Amino acid sequence: MKFTASVLDHIIDSLAPYSLACSWDNVGFQVGRSDRNIAAVLCALEITPAIIREAVRKKADAIISHHPLIFHPVLRITDSAVTGQLVTDIILSGLCLFVAHTNLDKSPCGTNHALAKLIGLANLRFIQPEPVQIGKPQYGMGYVGKLPKTITIKRFIEEVKRCLRVSHVQVIGDVKGRVRRVAVLAGSGNEAIKGMDMSLADVLLTGEMSHHAALEAKILGMTVICAGHYATEAVGMKYFAGFLRRHKGIQEAGVKILEAKCQSPPYEYV
Ligand SMILES: [Zn+2]
Repeated sequence: MKFTASVLDHIIDSLAPYSLACSWDNVGFQVGRSDRNIAAVLCALEITPAIIREAVRKKADAIISHHPLIFHPVLRITDSAVTGQLVTDIILSGLCLFVAHTNLDKSPCGTNHALAKLIGLANLRFIQPEPVQIGKPQYGMGYVGKLPKTITIKRFIEEVKRCLRVSHVQVIGDVKGRVRRVAVLAGSGNEAIKGMDMSLADVLLTGEMSHHAALEAKILGMTVICAGHYATEAVGMKYFAGFLRRHKGIQEAGVKILEAKCQSPPYEYV
């Protein structure tokens, strides 16, 4: 059987069902022809000119991006705006583009599971489980898990910095206490505090929070560690690449699964 973009689309959907995506999100097959032959796939956090060049250099036929390139309605596809420029470059490079965003966040093959495992959490439970469907795996947003032993929050912060390879984190709330139960939410944590039962965890580890969400978290007495949107999600695409590589259909077709190297956070500390 020919391994086409359409076959890859089905495989992504089987690992991180598109139907799980949040209502405001835009996931799935975004750019390209469904009958395009796929021999190599590049997994990246997001689409940039450097990622498109890397895909071309590595002879990839498709890119799977965590962040949606096409998110808001697009009225024209020209180089007059960044999205149009990137879509044009993807098409001119003969590439296909797939997006696995909040559907991947809610899948055990994705961002939140990767982050929970990276910091050594066990006994994982979803913060917000999806309704269970008989015979289907359990999905949900974010995890709560336990560290191997109780440690001080200060020590935990140092562990997070080491595991995520970041020099700084932002902290909201009290850092004097101790931590055993940790909630993780890769990327933006703004939505997490809405309706989240923080008695489930001593600390929430997330990527970033807006000023107002941070203020709210502080008033609610939460301790939140923001380790960076990029740092908390980059590991997720590597993790997903592993699931794709072990997938029977991909192995049988000999499709190469590549991990993006030319990516970095858009800002840095000076
Ligand atoms: Zn993100």
